[in-house]
Amino acid sequence: MLELLTTVPDATGHFGEFGGMFVPETLMTPLQDLAIAYEKAKNDPAFQAELDDLLHNYAGRPTPLYFAERWSGLLGGAKIYLKREDLLHTGAHKINNALGQILLAKRLGKTRIIAETGAGQHGVATATVCARFGMECIIYMGAVDMERQSLNVARMRLMGAKVVPVTAGQATLKEAVNEAMRDWVASVEYTHYILGSALGSHPFPMMVRDFHRVTGVEARAQILEKEGRLPDLLVACVGGGSNAIGLFHPFLRDADVRMVGVEAGGDGIVPERHAARFQGGKLGVLQGTKTWLLANADGQIELTHSISAGLDYAAIGPEHAYLQSIGRVEYTYATDTEVLAGFKTLATTEGILPALETAHAIAYVQKIAPLLPTSSLIIVNLSGRGDKDVEQASKYLL
Ligand SMILES: *Cc1c(COP(=O)(O)O)cnc(C)c1O
Repeated sequence: MLELLTTVPDATGHFGEFGGMFVPETLMTPLQDLAIAYEKAKNDPAFQAELDDLLHNYAGRPTPLYFAERWSGLLGGAKIYLKREDLLHTGAHKINNALGQILLAKRLGKTRIIAETGAGQHGVATATVCARFGMECIIYMGAVDMERQSLNVARMRLMGAKVVPVTAGQATLKEAVNEAMRDWVASVEYTHYILGSALGSHPFPMMVRDFHRVTGVEARAQILEKEGRLPDLLVACVGGGSNAIGLFHPFLRDADVRMVGVEAGGDGIVPERHAARFQGGKLGVLQGTKTWLLANADGQIELTHSISAGLDYAAIGPEHAYLQSIGRVEYTYATDTEVLAGFKTLATTEGILPALETAHAIAYVQKIAPLLPTSSLIIVNLSGRGDKDVEQASKYLL
């Protein structure tokens, strides 16, 4: 089983029964072309060299693997390491994928870029690479998210991107994706859609995963150098699942490495008050892919809630649905209250303000680390920094 894990998806983008290509007819050929172009780029040393150079000199890789000594001591159990993706340019892991995709767009001869964004971190990463490569940039963002993440809206606009408010439905990420898809259907000839997570139609879940694998590849080498052995546990928060799969994927074949993905528990597992797809969700199709999602008895997509805009989405990436189905990765959730407590603890013991998304992973570690022996090793993906969340956290914590 473990050998098979790193070869999914198949040629049509299926991870077991999950994934695939559920898109309007007009997008089928462009997506197949994208898959072919990606396959060529992946195997082209010139593409990889250009990407490596940007990741190193522009984005700031490799990121440190930092031993959180005071936090570990406070919890009194496992030794906890933080993979510092928050130190990347623009403040989150999203830049890894944005850089990979803009290089791909350039190869495809596209001149215009569109993207959706929830917390605004992916919008910022996309606006950043568009400025860097001189491309027109349109970001679709829910009006509600624009309000709670106004700092990121300003950052995008300052870099020359056009931010389009989406007021339909819940006015958050799902509606922003709908608008981006609508744009793409009409403009695909000259537009590339930089999708921001390991979600959507094939080849996006695979491609986005591959662009984030660098996190896990580095972490693996770093822990071997520091500790001389592999970690016992990997922990990451899961929205669409890109930072989590980026850390997990290079360890999937290591049977002794346990992995836990942490979803948004919101106010608790009550319909419409959370975004934990594996808690009360079901199998369905949303925005290009077949996966676990939150829907009511009639199949209508349910409203979601999370304190963090970046995890507030009704579907999970199809590879996570697959990894859950075969029991390779475990999934749990953290509530808003637990998230704020995690945020506060990391801030006051380590001097690191995590993003509220990231604080979901922190919250789970607070529960599990004390139960583990002091000889065990945990790596947490510190997916982003909390500057964007200072106002919201202050409201609750000060
Ligand atoms: C966007 C975001 C997430 C959630 O997205 P994934 O694709 O699940 O990684 C998590 N953390 C931060 C800091 C983000 O910006």
